[in-house]
Amino acid sequence: MRMKTKIIIRFYWMAILLLALAPVSNAAEIGKKVQITWLGQSGFKIVSPSGKVILIDPWAKGNNLYPYKSSTGEPDLTPLLDADMILITHGHFDHLGDTIPISKDPASKKDLKIVTIFELMTYLWEEGVDQNKLIPMNIGGTVKIEDVQITMVRAVHSSGIGPFASKSLTYGGEAAGFIIEMNNGFKIYHTGDTALFGEMKTYSTFYHPNLMMVPIGGIFTMGPKEAALAVDFVHPQFVIPMHYGGTFNLPGTPAEFKSALAKRGKAVKLIVPSPGKPIN
Ligand SMILES: [Zn+2]
Repeated sequence: MRMKTKIIIRFYWMAILLLALAPVSNAAEIGKKVQITWLGQSGFKIVSPSGKVILIDPWAKGNNLYPYKSSTGEPDLTPLLDADMILITHGHFDHLGDTIPISKDPASKKDLKIVTIFELMTYLWEEGVDQNKLIPMNIGGTVKIEDVQITMVRAVHSSGIGPFASKSLTYGGEAAGFIIEMNNGFKIYHTGDTALFGEMKTYSTFYHPNLMMVPIGGIFTMGPKEAALAVDFVHPQFVIPMHYGGTFNLPGTPAEFKSALAKRGKAVKLIVPSPGKPIN
């Protein structure tokens, strides 16, 4: 073979290899491989590109937006039992939710992992959750479970556990948010329940989240206007509002959020979730 032909062939194969290794930079493309289902309030079921099932703040009993019901009309946890991991932002009952019954259900996965701040982890341990399932961490830290990378970040909120029966609240550590990175690089920033705070700008420049899940209900968290500024701070490509309406009838609405985003001229795709309807 002539030298020139050999060089051309070599160049051709190198180009193919480079194309194959090129990082998929288009957030919309890689986002399509992630399936997200809203469970009402701040609860989500996320299926990663490799099929790992991630629950965040799974609250069923008492959550009037929880989509899965048994034949008797009771909340049905069955669709959540395929979870590989549960991430809990803080100890309030609408977030800790049904983590304990899910983790103790014989049909749940044997190697289920529960990721939460240290104090909440000790509470779950005392409540009889299998120690092998508990992954304690703290704000600023990162853990990797299967092929999902989870970073715990700040939220400006409180985190008492309870109330249950006559007991008063138990200390649950700090409230938190999570930045979740899928194996294809797609990053979700679930802020947890929070007020607006300036450090979100740092999360933007350091982590570059593609999708933000942000509370808009007001009273216990940001309302639509503050949430729109939070989106300005983070500038994700997609935003999903959460923690509005529902059991507590929280006043902020997706329509107000949409107009607050429009006033800021944000080039972000707003995805208004319907409970139980998967978003791709
Ligand atoms: Zn809440």
